[in-house]
Amino acid sequence: MINVTKTFLPPIEEYTGWVQKAFDKFWLTNRGELVLLLEQKLKEYLGVDWITITNNGTVPLQIAVKLLGKGGEIITTPFSFVATTSSIVWENCTPVFVDIHPEYLTIDETKIEAAITDKTTCILATHVFGNPCDMDAIQKIAKKHNLKVIYDAAHCFGVNYNGKSVFNYGDISTCSFHATKIFHTGEGGALFSNDEELRLPLYYSHNFGQITAVDFYAEGINAKISELQAAMGLSVFPYMDEIISERKKVVEKYDRLLDFSKLQRLKIRPGTDWNYSYYPVLFGSENLLLEKVAEMNKNEIFPRRYFYPSLNTIPFANGEKMPVSEDISKRVLSLPLYVGLEENEIQMICDIINS
Ligand SMILES: *Cc1c(COP(=O)(O)O)cnc(C)c1O
Repeated sequence: MINVTKTFLPPIEEYTGWVQKAFDKFWLTNRGELVLLLEQKLKEYLGVDWITITNNGTVPLQIAVKLLGKGGEIITTPFSFVATTSSIVWENCTPVFVDIHPEYLTIDETKIEAAITDKTTCILATHVFGNPCDMDAIQKIAKKHNLKVIYDAAHCFGVNYNGKSVFNYGDISTCSFHATKIFHTGEGGALFSNDEELRLPLYYSHNFGQITAVDFYAEGINAKISELQAAMGLSVFPYMDEIISERKKVVEKYDRLLDFSKLQRLKIRPGTDWNYSYYPVLFGSENLLLEKVAEMNKNEIFPRRYFYPSLNTIPFANGEKMPVSEDISKRVLSLPLYVGLEENEIQMICDIINS
């Protein structure tokens, strides 16, 4: 069976070696030695000044929206995973959708200003498939209208833009370390911010708002990651360069074998060092996509419709029509992409699509 992705697992002894350290210390959570060590390694690898790792990639979005959204309208993309929109609604803010660019698939920065009202508090955009938004344009708009910027960078582990990590842009960035993501801790995620005034509020938000057992910074939630998850992260981490270069090889094979006369590939924004996290292709029609999916399924191949449906159409979003995103989400399919996907398997997938 070939799924859209396959979780990278290190040799089990390497995982249990780290777990042993937690056992030796009788310490499983509350920012133990392994969590602190993983944060240190990630900071260096990613080139960021500040990180707080978390229990998943959704709670950090909720924390960011709670701190910066302030119950107002949040300009956001309809083309993302549902957590981007649900975090806004969950924190009692209103999502205001702006359509996407037809080739980059990120929020169309030229349409943002028209959506700003006096209730707008921030912009929450997704670097979808690890492809960065036009962050320079978004920054200019945010500055002009005094808005905050949050990036859902769930797909962006290892992505650089103009020579630095995308996590360094915006007021807050979040990442996911879910087992389906490129770097993972089973479940996990992270908060990033270059605004020193936001770091304490973010940090305390993820740990009940507690400074000490009896002293509170503000209200908070529990978004702490455990030592067992950090052990998984520490055992996957040494393989990151290899994971990215192996995925690059798969991407290059698809690029070579697919017939692009009837198919559109994701366009990566110039200036980006990409992480080869997904291989989305756009078919000419939804019917064609469904035909190809059925044929792949018959051959035990299970690509995924990332991302369908367009988030403006989900019941709790109350979104306006988003013609580009609605059209693209019906026609886009993420092909299998993982370390260990064999050449003959890629060939089989391409044969089905090209036929
Ligand atoms: C995976 C994902 C999330 C949520 O991350 P979890 O770790 O699964 O909570 C949020 N946004 C996007 C775009 C994602 O792909």
